[in-house]
Amino acid sequence: MNDRHGATEAEGSDFAKKLSDSGLRLTTQRKHVYHILLAQMDHPTADEVYLRAKAEKPEISMATVYNSLDALVKCGLVKQVNVDRAATRYCSNMEAHCHFYCEECGGVHDIELSGGIRDFPIRLPRDLSARQMDVSIRGVCKDPKGCSRRIAKS
Ligand SMILES: [Zn+2]
Ligand SMILES: [Zn+2]
Repeated sequence: MNDRHGATEAEGSDFAKKLSDSGLRLTTQRKHVYHILLAQMDHPTADEVYLRAKAEKPEISMATVYNSLDALVKCGLVKQVNVDRAATRYCSNMEAHCHFYCEECGGVHDIELSGGIRDFPIRLPRDLSARQMDVSIRGVCKDPKGCSRRIAKS
């Protein structure tokens, strides 16, 4: 991928470091995509990220957005979230949390895991060792205004 704008100033954040630790370059596009994900933590799909990114930077391409999302996932700044067979969504909350899926509006909400993964009341067989945990809860949002997004039901 040709990153036309090249590397920009490091923001003094984790961001630049995490990218460079994984051998990835900090480009304006990657930074932009990351900002989009932080600005609205509603677990957007790649298409939604693209639309938001494009609103501010009309020259950005879908391929660049995909590439940036890939890079952010690889360096651990963003997580992929899969709901059934729907399009992959992206989550920029790297704290231990699980996801609540609203069956009415399609919203995905972060639910904090107070003790983190280690304290989760689950006993793994001795020969298994966990690296990551994916817990999902399904239900309905009580307050329709609390839903961050609405998607068409199939
Ligand atoms: Zn999340
Ligand atoms: Zn809902």
